[in-house]
Amino acid sequence: MSQPAPEWLIAEVRRAKRGTGAEIVTQTRDLLDRLHLPTVCDRARCPNRGECFSHHTATFLILGEVCTRGCAFCAVSKGKPASVSADEPQRLALAVAELGLRHVVITSVTRDDLPDGGAAHYARVVEALREHCPGVRVELLVPDFQGSREALATVLATGPDILAHNLETVPRLYPEVRRGAEYRRSLEVLEQAKQISPKIITKSGLMLGLGEKSPEIEAVLRDLRHVACDMLTLGQYLSPSLHHAPVARYVNPEEFASRQRQALDLGFKSVAAGPLVRSSYKAPVFFGEIR
Ligand code: SF4
Repeated sequence: MSQPAPEWLIAEVRRAKRGTGAEIVTQTRDLLDRLHLPTVCDRARCPNRGECFSHHTATFLILGEVCTRGCAFCAVSKGKPASVSADEPQRLALAVAELGLRHVVITSVTRDDLPDGGAAHYARVVEALREHCPGVRVELLVPDFQGSREALATVLATGPDILAHNLETVPRLYPEVRRGAEYRRSLEVLEQAKQISPKIITKSGLMLGLGEKSPEIEAVLRDLRHVACDMLTLGQYLSPSLHHAPVARYVNPEEFASRQRQALDLGFKSVAAGPLVRSSYKAPVFFGEIR
């Protein structure tokens, strides 16, 4: 059972859910519905939807809406995915053009059922963006491709600007929180990205409040710097339902600020830390902060 959320956090979530412009939220939703484009914002029940959608921002979820893994923190549906939609890259590029995005974040469900984990589809999406949305900055938040260096190279060959892969939590909690994933394998995704494309900017994220201890967080940050990870996000874990992992603790804004300073001292070039920070939260803003 999750701890009850503090009042200040409930107020923050309400504010983020409302956003700043109901009309723009509706416009963004209408466009996504018209082009049949799911977002991780909706599928993962992100608390920032109102805020992001009212700035015409969303994180696109490609490769279907059903994930082959069963992470205990994630609200995305699990099971047997449908076949991949061949025209998704074109529809997504059209949405990016209509939204006028200069920075797009794209993620996917994990597709362990596909021989390449969906890497070729990621590549087709980036190619469509390069063709139809010249100048757009492309940030990909990829799965671990079961450790396939070849799949990662396929994605990187298309020249995304940022390659993100979230560690999500500390290694001790992987067996209960990230079943099917391996901590070292996830670190290697980031390490290999730099080996394959030395100029790529890499990014990772952690959720706090799942039961991790302070020295464990510090060790993960050092591991990330060891593989030259450039950007970091730290946010509060919020349990999507009673069937998901419970919240062990709510981290206050002062601790987030202290973690941010600590991470910058370790050498991260940009660190977003706060209760409602998610991997894609204000992605263009934090990219602009790279030192
Ligand atoms: S923080 Fe990311 S996932 Fe959440 S609503 Fe904003 S763009 Fe979507």
